[in-house]
This record gives sequence, structure tokens and C-alpha cells, in this order.
Amino acid sequence: MDNLKELERTIYNCYFAGEDSPPEPIFDVLADGIRNDMDFLVPIETPEELINMMGDAGDVQPGDTITSKEDIDIKFRHLVVNEKGEYFIPLFTSKEEMSKGQPSSLINQPAKTLFEMVDNWPKCLGYMINPWDRKIVINKDIIHMILEYDRSAFITIVRGGVLDVHVAAIVNAANNTLLGGGGVDGAIHRAAGPGLLAECKTLGGCDTGDAKVTEAYNIDYADAIIHTVGPVYSGSAEDADLLSSCYLNSLDKAFENGYSSIAFPCISTGVYGYPLDEAAMIALTAISDWLKDHEGILMNVYVCCFRDEELEAYMKLISD
Ligand code: ADP
Repeated sequence: MDNLKELERTIYNCYFAGEDSPPEPIFDVLADGIRNDMDFLVPIETPEELINMMGDAGDVQPGDTITSKEDIDIKFRHLVVNEKGEYFIPLFTSKEEMSKGQPSSLINQPAKTLFEMVDNWPKCLGYMINPWDRKIVINKDIIHMILEYDRSAFITIVRGGVLDVHVAAIVNAANNTLLGGGGVDGAIHRAAGPGLLAECKTLGGCDTGDAKVTEAYNIDYADAIIHTVGPVYSGSAEDADLLSSCYLNSLDKAFENGYSSIAFPCISTGVYGYPLDEAAMIALTAISDWLKDHEGILMNVYVCCFRDEELEAYMKLISD
């Protein structure tokens, strides 16, 4: 699992969801990154010694390696924010993010070291991740909190569809044939392109309550699509078990394939007619039970409410 990619996704989702968006998914990924050797790209002042060593800079080609015989004093670049000279240190998740602003020499630095060092610099206020675009500011208080973060998986309710957020695995509310349909199924097939249908044809359909994984094709910000088939609402006791299985099996598939973020639509609540309040209760119960059974893993779950009524049902449930 690529923590930096996951971090970019959670930041994107945080901006998508707007001001009230909970920051926990970002904290989760950062805390997980600290434990799993996540490196940031950090812009540095090109050191004098290095410039001297290079001699005529015109002779140095991209990709050349220069070996220093002495220790080189490396200084991180600073983003000074006030007249007292207080500053943030910029960090980047990728070269692409860096190239949106001023070019700079970069070094890789472990997130853990960066976070642990921050108290050594009195005028440093913290770090600014990807300062040129969707930036996230983590001040010293947040850094201390993340270093001690008792990570717990988190469910975010989003106003929007599954194609609006950036996640490793998008869940499709498909039908038994897996060959496409209306609603979210149609939208996912349109976004993914014909490769998806071709792969789905090889899967031999899917039982109600079960889940199958495909690639994400033209949906380039996701790694996979998990197709699950919700029950057509009949009013029988079996409906709830089948709907619950959709969530549990999709989460199992995400976990088995190493995906750390997943976006669910409100399965069965469209054309399949499941009453929203009941469906929301079943979904939240299944997801929280699954997360409790998988404590300590990183799994950011987004429940996407494409229609206002869906969001209302979830908000009512949470406030009760
Ligand atoms: P079902 O057949 O399981 O009821 P639907 O596709 O009708 O499936 O509805 C399932 C979920 O997908 C609901 O949350 C619905 O609001 C959402 N949905 C419907 N159309 C779209 C779309 N174009 N994009 C994203 N989500 C959608």
C-alpha cells in the first residue's frame, strides 16, 4: 500500500467534502505512514558545498550521481508566515505536487523523523503538505497528537456519489449479471469505459450479497471496483442479511487486496427499493462491526449519499 497516494486521496476528499469534513482520515493515514516508513519529499536550499563540488553546473546532467567526501549541511526550505520569522516547512507527496510551484532540490525524509524533529526548531510552526494546491497545515499540536494517535478506522458520510471521491476501491451496486445497468452501475461503467464490461463478462455474474473485484480502467484515481449485488427489497427478513453481506463482503475484498480506502453507494436504496432509514442502519452496523473486527488496520470508509434523502437518513441515524 502506498501511503503517499492514500494521503493524496484523503486530502482530495477532505477538500471535496468541504469545511465540515472530519480530519480523521488524514490523521489516520499520517499515523499509519509514521509506522510504515512513509517518506515525504522535502525542498531544500541547494547547499553551497554541493554547488562548489559540481564545478561547472552545465556539465551535470539529470540523473548524474555526485559523491561528497564531506558532510553536507542540508537546510530545509522555509515558508515564512509572519514578521517574527516564524515559518512552516513545506512537504510534498509527489514531484507532481511540487512542480505546481517553484522548482527546488528535494530530498526524501521519513515522516517519523520529520515529526519527531519539529520541536527542535522554536520558530517552526509545523509542516505544510502540498502548499501549492490543496494544502494541509499540520501545526505542532497536531503533530504531537499524530505521534501518539491511537488510530481507529473511520467512517465518513459524504454528500456526493462514489465517483466524486478518490479512493482505492469504489463499490458498485450492480445486478446479478454484472453486465451494467442504470443508476450508479451505469455511471461507473460509463466512467470506466468498455474494458470494464469486457472483464465483467468473464466473471460469470455475482450472487446477491456477494462481491467481485475488477480493475478500474479509465477511472485513474482508483485502483479497483468492487461489484456487489444488493437485494431487491421484498420485506422479508432475508433482505437485511443480504444487504449486510454486501457491505461485509466488499470490505473483505478490499482488505484482501490491500486497499485502504473504499467508497460505498447506498446499496439497494435506488431502483431496488430498500427503505432508506433501514438500509442506512444496516450499512452503518455492518461497517462498524467489520471495522471492530479488524482493529489496527488502515481502512478509510466513505459512505456516499448521492441524493439528499440519503444524507438525511444518515444524519438522522447519527443524531439519534
Ligand atoms: P440499486 O439498484 O442497488 O438500488 P441504484 O444505482 O439505483 O442501485 O442506487 C444505489 C445508490 O447509487 C444510491 O445511493 C443512489 O443514489 C446512487 N446513484 C444512483 N445514480 C448514481 C450516479 N449516477 N452516480 C452516483 N451514484 C448514483
